[in-house]
Amino acid sequence: MTTLKSGTVYLVGAGPGDPKLITVRGLELLKTADVVVYDRLTHPSLLSHTLSTAEKIYVGKASAHHSMKQPDINAVLVERALQGKSVVRLKGGDPFVFGRGGEEAEYCKENGICFEIVPGVTSAIAAPAYAGIPVTHRDAASSFSIITGHERDDSRESGTRTAGVAEQRRQWSKIAHAADTLLFLMGVEALPDIAQRLQENGRAPETPVALVQWGTWARQRVVVGTLADIVERVHSANLKPPAVCVVGDVVNLRSTLGWFDNLEQRPLFGKRIVVTRAREQASGLSDLLRTKGADPIELPVIEIRPLEEISEIDDALLSLNEYDWVILTSANAVPAIAKRMNAMEIDGRAFARTKIATIGPATAQALKEQLGLRADFIPTEAVAEAILEQFPETNLTGKHFLIPRALEAREVLPETLRQRGAVVDVIPVYETVMDTEGAETLRAEFQNGEVDIITFTSSSTVRNFVQALTPEDPSKAAEIVKNALIAAIGPITANTAREFGLEPHIIAEEHTIPGLVAAIESYYIKETIHA
Ligand code: SAH
Repeated sequence: MTTLKSGTVYLVGAGPGDPKLITVRGLELLKTADVVVYDRLTHPSLLSHTLSTAEKIYVGKASAHHSMKQPDINAVLVERALQGKSVVRLKGGDPFVFGRGGEEAEYCKENGICFEIVPGVTSAIAAPAYAGIPVTHRDAASSFSIITGHERDDSRESGTRTAGVAEQRRQWSKIAHAADTLLFLMGVEALPDIAQRLQENGRAPETPVALVQWGTWARQRVVVGTLADIVERVHSANLKPPAVCVVGDVVNLRSTLGWFDNLEQRPLFGKRIVVTRAREQASGLSDLLRTKGADPIELPVIEIRPLEEISEIDDALLSLNEYDWVILTSANAVPAIAKRMNAMEIDGRAFARTKIATIGPATAQALKEQLGLRADFIPTEAVAEAILEQFPETNLTGKHFLIPRALEAREVLPETLRQRGAVVDVIPVYETVMDTEGAETLRAEFQNGEVDIITFTSSSTVRNFVQALTPEDPSKAAEIVKNALIAAIGPITANTAREFGLEPHIIAEEHTIPGLVAAIESYYIKETIHA
């Protein structure tokens, strides 16, 4: 085995949940990885940073039943690295804090694979911090310990070796006094045992205790009590893993320092808000909502795929000099064309006699980057109508046009060109494939009442939303979303929503993204006052 040729395994701490709490190094690696291996404690939106070509492997579900066993995870890491790939093993919190990162690194070492460790922000400290609990404080605690609570979840996996030895090592008399603040991870199931042992070993029954569930996530929940009553409180709140259990006087600071889940300070905390983006729009809305404490739900992605049927594309590309103009109506056509040109071993010179129009700057950019070609004409507005109005040639009679585009697309452009005397060949080069599984999940979330608001920032976001949610039958959308609030950026967008039977509850007065968020906030502030 040669280490020279093999790739590297990066054990990367993803941080506790809040997707902004990954390190700069971690993000950098995520953006360039060939393979990303992740589990349920890493925030799904982190994956949006990965290359579209990256292989994403999910190795853990809520129940141990569905998760990949540790030896299998190890094997995947090594196998991909041996193929020369850059493998990011993205792990919740810090990879070396109960993350089994040590085992994964050992396995890499045994197999001669290079590895790198990227520490992360551990949930042991960050979850309490987002609950307003500092793990040390000059008046309350000068030390803390991080302890495993040995939830069965963990030991049920193949890790019996570690769990068994550690269990035997457990000396409650020492644990109880290990530090002023005790932080138990994986401690929800064992909570009755923990509370009892700590009291038996000299911790007062009135010692404050907090459980922070899904700390730093927009679904964070906190239950506070004492060693004497925490078990009952956690039970009646039906609080489940993952949670960090904090034992010690620092817990009392939450009443003054609570901030993240403080509804007065952040009225959108925990609200699940659908964000629909127009194709080339910045992700500003999700970010702003997240800073306000909301949980943005990004729509299922629409996948772009080059067509399998290529003979027509190839023929057209080989006879490009017969065309006066090629019109590219979307940046998506560019990679499909580049792929066929590469396959046929032809290059930009094939376009020598042909002028190129792109519908917008993003398409022109793709053309320049992927084919090294400049667009001859870009209309000021990225719509088919603008191409027609602003076209640099007036007499189109007998001119040959090639329009490589999506399998299903609007007919305005070819039809109008033909009316003006042009000869137009329309060739499908790619197709858009709906993410049906994603749409299914989203519909289920609506039906279970798990979505609070849908936001629309333009008319096209309304259309994209309806298309993503109900690709087969748009008329069903209104019924599916009936329990969620609808917020529109302004009156035009609101009218488009109405066309689909979606009556907005909130219409922003200031027609900007911050204006929309402010309108949603004041809606909830009024709600709380009336409640
Ligand atoms: N390496 C991780 C811990 C992995 S062990 C870290 O450094 O954070 C898994 C346990 O971590 C869970 O059972 C739970 O106790 C804790 N945990 C992880 N993420 C959490 C979160 N966001 N909120 C609360 N507890 C969390």
